[in-house]
Amino acid sequence: AAKRAGGNSCALFEQHMDARALEQLSLHTELRQAIAQGQLELHYQPKLDSRRGQIRGVEALLRWRHPQRGLIAPDVFIPIAERFGLISEIGNWVIDEACRQMQLWQQAGLRMRVAINLSVHQLRQSDLVERIATALRRHEIEAAQLLCEITESVAMEDVKTTLRAFGGLGELGVYLAIDDFGTGYSSLSYLRRLPARQLKIDRSFINDLDLSSDARAVVDAVIKLAHALGLSVVAEGVETPAQRDILVALDCDELQGYLFARPMPAQALLDWAAGRDRPEGAADFSPSVFA
Ligand code: C2E
Ligand code: MG
Ligand code: MG
Ligand code: MG
Repeated sequence: AAKRAGGNSCALFEQHMDARALEQLSLHTELRQAIAQGQLELHYQPKLDSRRGQIRGVEALLRWRHPQRGLIAPDVFIPIAERFGLISEIGNWVIDEACRQMQLWQQAGLRMRVAINLSVHQLRQSDLVERIATALRRHEIEAAQLLCEITESVAMEDVKTTLRAFGGLGELGVYLAIDDFGTGYSSLSYLRRLPARQLKIDRSFINDLDLSSDARAVVDAVIKLAHALGLSVVAEGVETPAQRDILVALDCDELQGYLFARPMPAQALLDWAAGRDRPEGAADFSPSVFA
């Protein structure tokens, strides 16, 4: 979320841009090496069944473990990767890594759907479907175990490309989700044409849920709309019990957010999921949440 400074913001902005441009340049050179040197990691955040509290799946979120700067968030380096033409390579790595990890979890007895985020550049890649199919085959993963999240604004950017990519992925059997829903401007008729299974309500609406009756009305309407179209609904960025309780009351299907778990490395996720299997693991949920 962009916060605007008033008054002298112009000079500040330019200074800031210089620093940023320099920063980007150095990060970009390092990012090229990062891929080759294995500094990219996927962390995983659970999506929970809102009625039972069970883990329904995880979302893979990209991190860069920089040798000096520490863990760098995707909002910082994905724009750089896009600008310097590295996003396809990174995107391909994410596809393969998520499938590889899924296979390891399955071998450890943990079966769940894994979601990856796709960029607009990946949607335009003519071999995207083939790449995903290859990764699924290589790691012996059923297509329906993989979910691809595409933000609403990306899906709206180029309708023809989106419909082609969604068509191919849907045919392959991969699940599709519309991410950050509510921030774009999809029309109802367009939404109907997308073979998506899941709709993720943007965090900004969830944030305001317990404070604003408007946000609550929007979330209520979005959930009803999604259900009418046969989509399941995920709320992202759930941080408080009050937000959770409202979402459960509004019949939201899945919940994701810091209230339950932050994104974590693969092994930590496995331990976390194992802990939840035991009765005491359910303690995160208030009794009212159980059906
Ligand atoms: P997103 O797909 O909407 O992912 C959700 C973001 O919200 C993640 O930020 C997650 O850590 C954060 N989040 C989850 N729960 C909470 C909460 O309760 N409170 C708050 N404040 N935040 C929460 P993250 O990991 O920094 O990722 C940011 C964005 O970067 C993602 O938004 C996604 O658009 C993009 N991204 C992440 N991984 C990839 C990737 O592999 N490829 C592409 N193309 N984009 C990615
Ligand atoms: Mg996402
Ligand atoms: Mg999102
Ligand atoms: Mg988001």
